[in-house]
Amino acid sequence: MYCRGAKLPFDGMHEECGVFGVYSQETRDVAHTVYYGLYALQHRGQESGGIAVAYANKIKFYKGMGLIPEVFANGNLDLLPEGDIAIGHVRYSTTGESTILNAQPIVFTGKCGRMALAHNGNLTNTKQLRESLIHDNAVFQTSIDSEVMALLINKYSDGDIVKGVLEACGYFKGSFALVVMTADKLIAVRDPYGIRPLVLGKNLDEYIVASETCAIDAVGGNVVRDVRPGEVLVIDSEGTHSYFLERPAKTASCIFEYVYFARPDSVIDGCSVYEARKEAGRILARYYPVDADIVSGVPDSAVVAARGYSEVSGIPYVEALAKNRYVGRTFIQPDQHMRENSVSVKMNALRSNIRGKRLIIIDDSIVRGTTSRKIVRMLRDAGAKEVHMMICSPIVKHPCYLGIDMQSYSQLVGANRTEEEICKYIGADSLKYITVEQLKETCRTSKLDFCTGCFDAQYPYEMNDYQADKHKFE
Ligand code: SF4
Repeated sequence: MYCRGAKLPFDGMHEECGVFGVYSQETRDVAHTVYYGLYALQHRGQESGGIAVAYANKIKFYKGMGLIPEVFANGNLDLLPEGDIAIGHVRYSTTGESTILNAQPIVFTGKCGRMALAHNGNLTNTKQLRESLIHDNAVFQTSIDSEVMALLINKYSDGDIVKGVLEACGYFKGSFALVVMTADKLIAVRDPYGIRPLVLGKNLDEYIVASETCAIDAVGGNVVRDVRPGEVLVIDSEGTHSYFLERPAKTASCIFEYVYFARPDSVIDGCSVYEARKEAGRILARYYPVDADIVSGVPDSAVVAARGYSEVSGIPYVEALAKNRYVGRTFIQPDQHMRENSVSVKMNALRSNIRGKRLIIIDDSIVRGTTSRKIVRMLRDAGAKEVHMMICSPIVKHPCYLGIDMQSYSQLVGANRTEEEICKYIGADSLKYITVEQLKETCRTSKLDFCTGCFDAQYPYEMNDYQADKHKFE
């Protein structure tokens, strides 16, 4: 095993994770394919990354802290051998600390020999599963739910990995898009609600599975289809075979993937992320017209929506903010002082474009409100006459327990404020959010239903274990 790096300071990025897997009919440099796939998924996690390769009944892996090109710099990628199967992971911790020990893929020897697992999502019953496994004499090396999944799969496998996956997944509550690898199989699993995205692709004799279609495009593959909610997709020398977990009546894919997390060039369950974002801008223009001189978007995720707003309203799209492309996506930062600074480091107002103008500024969402407040102040300081903010999602009123790091009511500016109160807090002249129904309308071409829990508490699972925080906050 090769590991690099030490504990990172908490940087407050709030993505989830990305997974990638490849099955090749011939032994070749599959690690490089995974490397480029993970590069395309870097927006989903920047804390750590890793790749595991199956070759000659063995698995070799390398993990490290940092971005994929940092982890695999200095010839580290070349430490991995040629093989038939490989999986990889980029991580932002939603459970467990940000340490090298918690980096994935998890690799271990069990009833099916060497095995590796990489997970995007978050289980809501990890504590109960961990306690029951410890009661059965299991020992844990990490604090992440993915290790619980690996141990449970091993427990039920009895030498048959497919049996182990099918039985263990029946116990998992929460979101999981998994790639599991043994010496001769690659298995992709999507939870029965389809909360996190997972897609199947093909490139000549290689099968590929990835969190987003942009990663399949990046390695020159063709997208075949989405892995279906509840599907256990087994890939081996005979091709693909599908099994299904027990499925609920309604699916619940995370609608925030379209708002913020996914790359705009990805297509999730038949719905283009780019088109969904543009439609959100068009809806804002139709329902909330404002008399203004220019419209602009907070880079990067809201630029498309601002163009949609401009298209419908006829108000010219003008760039108001320049982004430093070398700063990661901020979302929530560890303390107030750092949050204020990180916005200025990340972007700056284009004074000559906005001086004396009545400006509509569009953003994807407001979580803590600190970034929006800073942006409004920055635009006013640069000479904007009026600043009207429009948001491409409803008010975030509830935490997410399904793989996004906003896990307490106290983090959310919208938890106990109205639209008017949030407007006052951020200092804008006006503020408008789209409704849950309008947001669903932006993604109407998706084949799945949606989780909208962070907006209206309509989670696919009961969240009883998490209600203590709500009561404390109230
Ligand atoms: S609660 Fe919100 S962020 Fe979490 S899975 Fe549901 S829609 Fe996505």
